[in-house]
Amino acid sequence: MQTQILQQLDLAHIWHPCTQMSDHENIPLIPIKRAKGMYLYDFDDRSYMDCVSSWWVNLFGHCNETISYAVKKQLDNLEHVILAGFTHEPIITLSQRLCSLLPPMLTKCFYADNGSSCIEVALKMSFHSFRNRGQERKYFLALNNAYHGETLGALSVGDVSLYKQTYSPLLLQCLHTPVPHNPYEYSNEIESLKQILKQYGKQICAFILEPLIQCAGNMNMYGKDYIKKAVELCREYEIQIIFDEIAVGFGRSGSMFALEQCEVCPDYLCLSKGITGGYLPLSVVITTDAIYNTFYAPYKDIQKAFLHSHSYTGNTLACAAANAVLDIFETNNVIEQNIALSSFIATQFKSLTANPKVANMRYCGMIFAFDVITDRERAGLFVFMEGLKSGLLLRPLGNTIYFMPPYIITHDEICYVVENLKTILEIV
Ligand SMILES: *Cc1c(COP(=O)(O)O)cnc(C)c1O
Repeated sequence: MQTQILQQLDLAHIWHPCTQMSDHENIPLIPIKRAKGMYLYDFDDRSYMDCVSSWWVNLFGHCNETISYAVKKQLDNLEHVILAGFTHEPIITLSQRLCSLLPPMLTKCFYADNGSSCIEVALKMSFHSFRNRGQERKYFLALNNAYHGETLGALSVGDVSLYKQTYSPLLLQCLHTPVPHNPYEYSNEIESLKQILKQYGKQICAFILEPLIQCAGNMNMYGKDYIKKAVELCREYEIQIIFDEIAVGFGRSGSMFALEQCEVCPDYLCLSKGITGGYLPLSVVITTDAIYNTFYAPYKDIQKAFLHSHSYTGNTLACAAANAVLDIFETNNVIEQNIALSSFIATQFKSLTANPKVANMRYCGMIFAFDVITDRERAGLFVFMEGLKSGLLLRPLGNTIYFMPPYIITHDEICYVVENLKTILEIV
């Protein structure tokens, strides 16, 4: 009863993200009343196991005690303060801690409040840093099949046509170079990159990429060797490197940050999503002293300064949550623990490949994916609906089914997911 009223009121007033709203004529919205750990609970107390970490943000479960405690404690002291001219302890601590986990070149943190905004920050900073040195470079270089968010700058460097096509007349000038589709074959892609660089190299500010895994681009896992080589080539033209680790950062790739596996230190590292464990919106671009110094000038050159801001830049509660997330990483030795967890999940998922509809099984760190070969229209939606019946929140990307759970998932829960996927894949 309560559910129905909420559904009606919701549709009267709320326009949902990434949704053709007419779908909700047939597909019921699910009001969630509460959550704990791996599970969301609706108003009839039915549970849904959050296999997508609520859009890849949740790392340690819902209503996590450590994070909740840190946020509550912060709440009674200072909820937010303007970050221009003022500062606060949680953001200082967080910035120090983030930098201490990164290559020593990355020293300066610029905050925003969502992933797309921090991509905008990195793009603007890169363009501006050339301008401050008397150079005008007007292009960005990105990978085919990339996803960097949905504000106009972020859409420009992205390449998922579902999100981009409509807005193409509005977008920035951007070059795209082919991305490898597996970790071991990349010589053609390097050749294409060389051609682009030969023609445009000196006009490109930055090369932006999602290291190791293009998540929204159907979980394309393309490996570190291409990245290392591509970055080397870009450096020959003094092109800056932006790593978008918004999705793969904070342990998703298997290491704390994917840059560790790539053995590359980018000029800009973009982080968001997992940074607050899925509690509050926060993002950060971490860059080098060298770039920071191109903006550092007497006030009379005000156009040299980076005059970008968001009202909620560096929100105190979000920083408190992020510090609690780092506490959990430290005390629970999470990266180490995840190695065993990841290989357990990989082994379980391998059993799904007995079904001929399952293709291209792949994983990297705490991300697992495969493609379903089926003639069914909107197979992803079918899997989503069937998943709900078994109490699973799965949300495939087209025909790519992925599993990206919070790191607290148990072996029993993993086996439950795999057993139910088996059944769903029989009928998809
Ligand atoms: C989610 C995502 C973004 C955009 O972040 P929002 O907070 O949704 O704006 C950018 N890049 C990558 C790789 C992402 O996965």
